Amino acid sequence: MKYVQTTCPYCGTGCSFNLVVADGKLTGVAPYHRSPVNEGKVCPKGTYAHEFVGSPDRLKTPLIKKDGKFVAATWDEAYDLIAKKFKSYKPEEMACLSSARVSNEENYLMQKFARAVLKTPHVDHCARLCHASTVVGLAGAFGSGAMTQSIGDIADAKCVFIIGSNTFEQHPLIGRRVMQAKMKGAKLIYADPRLTATGKQADLFLPFYSGADVAIFNGLMQQIIRNGWENKEFIEKRTKDFDKLKAVVMKPEYSLDNVAKISGIPAKDLATAAEWIAKSGATAILYSMGITQHTTGVDNVKSVANIQMLTGNLGRPGTGVCALRGQNNVQGACDMGALPNVYSGYQAVIVPDNKKKMTDAWGTELAEGKVGYTVTDMINILADKPGTLKCLYIMGENPMLSDPDLHHVEKGLRNLEFLVVQDIFLTETAELANVVLPAACYAEKDGTQTSTERRVQRWRKAVNPPGQAKADWQIFGELAAKMGFAKQFPYKSAEEVFVEVAKVTPSYAGMSYARLEKPEALHWPCPTADHPGTPILHKEKFAHPDGLGVFTPLEWKPAAEVPDKDYPLILTTGRCIWQWHTGTMTRRSVSLESEAPTGWIEINPEDANALGIKDKEKVRAVTRRGQVEVPARVTKDIKKGVTFMPFHYKECAANVLTNNALDPVAKIPEFKACAVRIEKLPEVKK
Ligand code: SF4
Repeated sequence: MKYVQTTCPYCGTGCSFNLVVADGKLTGVAPYHRSPVNEGKVCPKGTYAHEFVGSPDRLKTPLIKKDGKFVAATWDEAYDLIAKKFKSYKPEEMACLSSARVSNEENYLMQKFARAVLKTPHVDHCARLCHASTVVGLAGAFGSGAMTQSIGDIADAKCVFIIGSNTFEQHPLIGRRVMQAKMKGAKLIYADPRLTATGKQADLFLPFYSGADVAIFNGLMQQIIRNGWENKEFIEKRTKDFDKLKAVVMKPEYSLDNVAKISGIPAKDLATAAEWIAKSGATAILYSMGITQHTTGVDNVKSVANIQMLTGNLGRPGTGVCALRGQNNVQGACDMGALPNVYSGYQAVIVPDNKKKMTDAWGTELAEGKVGYTVTDMINILADKPGTLKCLYIMGENPMLSDPDLHHVEKGLRNLEFLVVQDIFLTETAELANVVLPAACYAEKDGTQTSTERRVQRWRKAVNPPGQAKADWQIFGELAAKMGFAKQFPYKSAEEVFVEVAKVTPSYAGMSYARLEKPEALHWPCPTADHPGTPILHKEKFAHPDGLGVFTPLEWKPAAEVPDKDYPLILTTGRCIWQWHTGTMTRRSVSLESEAPTGWIEINPEDANALGIKDKEKVRAVTRRGQVEVPARVTKDIKKGVTFMPFHYKECAANVLTNNALDPVAKIPEFKACAVRIEKLPEVKK
């Protein structure tokens, strides 16, 4: 028996644990007490993170579709077919989807494969669907698009304001830090349309109509300025454009009474929240996809930045903007340049010097230095302009359940001429592929991942992959060699890839596997080999060239689709503690699946009574894009007029219903608000 220390493959918290291996098989998860992130504790998903690894459903050989059916193939047969097809398309006709689930090294290689081998600028990943607004919004305000603090810092807050995040269920080991702050006397404010497990611990609960975020922040800021609670010294020395912000937030539209009408939050509670945020001395704001997944996602994120600059709550322990990243390595996938506008380290592709640097480093001509398609562009182009994009290479993503308006997604993917999917299971997306490549999972390979707090940590191989499955980094090397790029992909280990990452990525330049051996690992930016890493950003100045934070004046805009007589309720979507994303891993974990084996729709008792719907009764949820039948969960924990569905379940897929309307800048879809009608199903006569 041996213990192998590694990092959790589920959420972006980045907890460490030991994988227990007996006779070459994973048998469990054991605590790793030296991790400063989770100090030996894990949530239910971490507890059972070994269960899906040995599932009999794991892909074990490459598969090639012949006459509509998958047939097992050798790696050479699969590579030869893929290489032949890839060579037959023009670069503009191909696109790649990278993955927030795989390692930094593998994300780095996929964007390198796209840009250096396929010569296409079209590479992106699912950060587009969760935190693209954070990357754009915080980069605009602070010059850097990432969480400003460390997770441990949250325990030092005097006030914690959580909006759009069910932290205790989705990031439980971050929720633990919130409780530590609360036990030391911090006030907890919670704003959400649902009274979640997180909300039940709050000192002040602000239930609001999904989509009212900018109005709420403007109202809070007006109240702060009216009372003279703003941090004048911070505004004067560290920021610019305060007057522009003030001109907007002081408008009568953002009086507490008016914001109460827009949001549904009582004015007196907004006033209390404003006072606690401004006067605590150290307020941390935590948010997640409740803020980002809107057509106003960037505005919402900039509003969080605005209020933290207004009150001087940045650059000190217990303060900051804590953008809680969803998947384990969504931060790392962004850092590695699996985005259509940047190389690794957020080096813009449109800057000729950056392109020259990467061309020299990789030793080949690259894709044109222009911004490529986002995930959402790709699906829209596939569905609406058939023949423009012809070939898609997807690693570890499942758009057939994770993307909005699934009928539209399926139409797009079926318009492809050639689809390659590289994954650990035959997902709903892989079923549509021409070739499927079997990949190793986190427990079967070495690598690194970067958590929501920018901490770069190791994965360590504990067991062999099943059958002929291989690590994604190996697959890229072998496929690149078949395409004639062996020299550019010479790697014999994940560590060799990381050495190259450090060479070309300024924020990772001081990192090495040897340095990441320490339990605390390293936070980026870490520019030199003797740099200690940077747990707190923006201590003295912001990352803009002039060092100043930028206020952005923002007007509130309603969601793209609001309730009307045909679709009278708001639908919002999210996750539950037992399942993960599209359920690919958790639904193959017996312990997790047994706790939440199917989906549901939450309805307030007043709305349910009006429709004659009882708890647990199956109902039909209908939007302009589709309909699903799903059991009702009648609960006063959800605001009247709002409904909620988790999106994990293919048998009642919430994303059949969601709206593909996009934030104009970040191109993130509005998963969190659309108009829905709930219908009672006819009784079945026995
Ligand atoms: Fe894994 Fe997140 Fe749970 Fe930690 S909080 S054990 S990282 S799922």
